[in-house]
Amino acid sequence: MSEDRKCYFCGYDSKVTCLPEKSCSNLYECEYCGTYILDRQGFDILKKDENKFKMACVLNERRLKGFGGIALDDETKKEEFVYDYPRISVNELLDDFPQKASDFLNRTLLNLSRLSGDRPFKLIKLDIPIKGGCLPLFISNSKECYAFLNQLAEQGFIRAFNVKAGLDFNVFSLTIKFWEMVENIKKTEVGNKRVFVAMWFHESMNDYYKDGIKKAIEEAGYEPVRIDLQEFNEKICDEIIAEIKRCKFLVSDFSGQRGGVYFEAGFAKGLGKEVIFTVKKDDVKKLHFDTRQYNHIVYDSPEDLYKQLYNRICATIV
Ligand SMILES: [Zn+2]
Repeated sequence: MSEDRKCYFCGYDSKVTCLPEKSCSNLYECEYCGTYILDRQGFDILKKDENKFKMACVLNERRLKGFGGIALDDETKKEEFVYDYPRISVNELLDDFPQKASDFLNRTLLNLSRLSGDRPFKLIKLDIPIKGGCLPLFISNSKECYAFLNQLAEQGFIRAFNVKAGLDFNVFSLTIKFWEMVENIKKTEVGNKRVFVAMWFHESMNDYYKDGIKKAIEEAGYEPVRIDLQEFNEKICDEIIAEIKRCKFLVSDFSGQRGGVYFEAGFAKGLGKEVIFTVKKDDVKKLHFDTRQYNHIVYDSPEDLYKQLYNRICATIV
């Protein structure tokens, strides 16, 4: 059936594979929305066109950020994978659709910056008449897309390239003013990629950092920041305080029971930052009672840590 070959959300032609072990689910690979698994019964909330569009925008943004595929579910199940794809709640994704004008603008500009790849002034083509082409702008109607692009051009953020009969904003380049604006946005929370890693920097933890924590953070689209502490002088220096203030969230590993890690996690919590708690299986029993209440990722190998942490970041940090 032709219907089966279209993306559920944006309606564009996609590869759809029936998952043999999950007889009621399909794997979609859409050029715009990326890779996702959807139960064939669907979700009531997604039957509304408005929500399909919102979901397509959020998935498109995740793809542009370089995030991997996901399995759509009723709720986020942090440690469960379906065919290697983490389960993520449909409601959580819908809630991520921008709400305020400033969010729309900032996230649109960031999407456009991602479309340029590593060539800041290359020509960008948006397939506006196709629904998928509108997704980076978070606007469903093509007339409104053109109106918005027209404003971006008037403000000097983009320059239309193919101006024949009237203005054609399907093809445009990004201006120096655009990149200055993007730099400013990146300094704010929306584009903040920095993740502070609080852990025991001991040789025995090297593989857990490199193949577990660092890999998970990077593959989820973030940038790990670690400041090695000398074991004999574990004081909390100004640089650490500044980095914790700047970061988007923390990964705190409690293996080895370092006092500094407890302090840093507590300090970040006090600032209202998200903290992901991790600990080696052998160290669980040693955890201080103050942090035992938190849902720790308990791991027994760097690979295990990587998989669980990557999943947790995708599920909880939007
Ligand atoms: Zn799609």
